[in-house]
Amino acid sequence: MSSATDIISLKGVGAALALKLERLGIHTIQDLLFHLPLRYQDRTRILPIGSLRPGDECVIQGEIRASDIVMGKRRSLLCRIQDGTGTLTLRFFHFSAAQKQQLSTGKAIRCFGEVRPGPSGLEMVHPEYRASTSDDLTPVEEALTPVYPMTEGLQQNRVRSLITQALMWLETGHLPELLPESLRQRWKLPDLRDALLYLHAPPVDADQHLLLEGRHPAQRRLAFEELLAHHLTLMKLRHRVQESGAPRLPYHGQLCTPFLEQLPFSLTQAQERVSREVTADLNKAIPMLRLVQGDVGSGKTVVAALAALQAVENGFQAAVMAPTEILAEQHYINFTQWMEPLGVKIAWLAGKVKGKQRLAQLASIADGSAQIVVGTHALFQDEVRFYNLGLAVIDEQHRFGVHQRLSLREKGRDGQKTPHQLIMTATPIPRTLTMSAYADLDCSIIDELPPGRTPVSTVVIADSRRDQVIERVRAACNEGRQAYWVCTLIEESEALQCQAAEVAEATLRELLPELRIGLVHGRMKAQEKADVMQCFKSAELDLLVATTVIEVGVDVPNASVMIIENPERLGLSQLHQLRGRVGRGSVESFCVLMYHAPLSKQGRERLAVMRETTDGFKIAEKDLELRGPGEVLGTRQTGMMQFRIADLQRDGDLLERVRQVAAQLEQQPDLIEAVTRRWLGQGEEYGHV
Ligand code: ADP
Ligand code: MG
Repeated sequence: MSSATDIISLKGVGAALALKLERLGIHTIQDLLFHLPLRYQDRTRILPIGSLRPGDECVIQGEIRASDIVMGKRRSLLCRIQDGTGTLTLRFFHFSAAQKQQLSTGKAIRCFGEVRPGPSGLEMVHPEYRASTSDDLTPVEEALTPVYPMTEGLQQNRVRSLITQALMWLETGHLPELLPESLRQRWKLPDLRDALLYLHAPPVDADQHLLLEGRHPAQRRLAFEELLAHHLTLMKLRHRVQESGAPRLPYHGQLCTPFLEQLPFSLTQAQERVSREVTADLNKAIPMLRLVQGDVGSGKTVVAALAALQAVENGFQAAVMAPTEILAEQHYINFTQWMEPLGVKIAWLAGKVKGKQRLAQLASIADGSAQIVVGTHALFQDEVRFYNLGLAVIDEQHRFGVHQRLSLREKGRDGQKTPHQLIMTATPIPRTLTMSAYADLDCSIIDELPPGRTPVSTVVIADSRRDQVIERVRAACNEGRQAYWVCTLIEESEALQCQAAEVAEATLRELLPELRIGLVHGRMKAQEKADVMQCFKSAELDLLVATTVIEVGVDVPNASVMIIENPERLGLSQLHQLRGRVGRGSVESFCVLMYHAPLSKQGRERLAVMRETTDGFKIAEKDLELRGPGEVLGTRQTGMMQFRIADLQRDGDLLERVRQVAAQLEQQPDLIEAVTRRWLGQGEEYGHV
């Protein structure tokens, strides 16, 4: 505990102050030291008044030449001060009689404040000041003055003085250096203590620009250690999972071969490559932990099916899990069509499977007669007992949190062995994020679409041209194509979004009476949703009005037109997902992004990205750049992505180094323990595994 002593032990910290500090995430002295300044003030030099410019934040010193109360719009005290190079006005709106007295003509004064233009030359409003009858004012500061992130009711000076105490605590050797000397030399990382001292009290000649950007070696060193701690935690999880071992599931081919033969297409090279990687993993006695990334429509389902069959060939069960009932059901239908002819028995479990039917499914899962189980997160429930689960496939991973990913690992046979895991995501994940958030997983990429797809062309149009858009939908549907009309609203209000979709549907029915129009939204019962989707799939509907529930996985090749209302409200990755619903057949598809003017500069930029590229990886990179990792990964993932100091965009280039260093530290469990504890506590974030 010595490295993280409670904040209460500092002088002057009582319960009330401790509470405020807690709001800043500061519980220990160590936390306080990791609470880095946002920026710095230079109080080390006295600037000549004649050299000042608006916006400067600086110390000046001079003589008070006049001091008057002025009754303007607001009663104020104005002092004119002069230093031989120029004059400047100090303006006080609040002042006491004693202050007025203090600020009398003839006194020497030193002030610190921000310079701004006033009605008669430059001025400082409510500067910090010290006035004296003699010239011997206190000396200037020797180091730059830190400005800390604050919370209400807390003063900079208060935090500064606490940090001064914390630095003394640090100087007495409390926060040990954890990174080995050789490593620090190799990567030119400053010592921890030096780095912290530097950042809380940088010398006068420090490169403020570098510090502001967070790129100073002292900052990079801390970011490095933090990223390392996160990485080591994920590696620990990975090792723990792999220690338990997994059943070996070698490739035999008695099911996979006929499966491949009956497919109406042959695999793309990318599908083949990724399948080979999966096959090799399954052949090992340690659990596979593999993430398969592939853009929408790249054909991940077939890869999952092959893996599942390989498990079945070895007499083991496979579970395939999807985040929504619609998607799970679609997998169930596909798998049934593909595999029943091969004599494979498939069970189906979702929230809507109830009563006797549910019991029957559970029984077949428990006694092993169901060889493949398809479902939603209902598969996570305790009542689900597998006979011998050999492989778990999780589709659209980013919608499942890390915790769920982990809880699934516990579902192995007898709790002794762990099932192999294959995680599929259609949201391409920027490399910096795979290297951080998914460092516990190996990664495969399906970077090729099946042949015969025509790229979707995207147009960006203001909703003032709605009539034209509607005509376009009419024309397309009259040609026998099908279309989606997607309504978006701020995510928090699903109710409003559903309402918007209902309104849109009613309006479209009126304007397009000859079309068959359906509606799906998140508040409908799962069965209703599935029925509407089925109608759309079998072309009994021309136009499907939907909320973003169709985002994931719906496969209707004849649908070639998509209108997205208010696309500016969605993240790029989400738009990309939506757009992936069209362009699945051989006809040319188009996507209309119908925004509501005016767009912000960022909004314009984002929609332009959508128009210019259909490459999911490029889009994901841009999304990361514009919105940050929390948004890209989904909120459930953010818990583990909250860094105190590191910033994935800024420090992403450190990750490769972090990976190498982590590998070198493998033989030093004590050190790993110390580093992860320092930055992540006991690992609560990772769900006690
Ligand atoms: P996703 O990667 O988005 O999950 P799917 O697995 O749903 O993609 O595949 C999208 C469509 O492409 C499906 O209709 C599927 O049958 C088809 N498909 C998959 N692989 C191929 C291939 N190699 N050649 C032609 N079509 C394919
Ligand atoms: Mg899919």
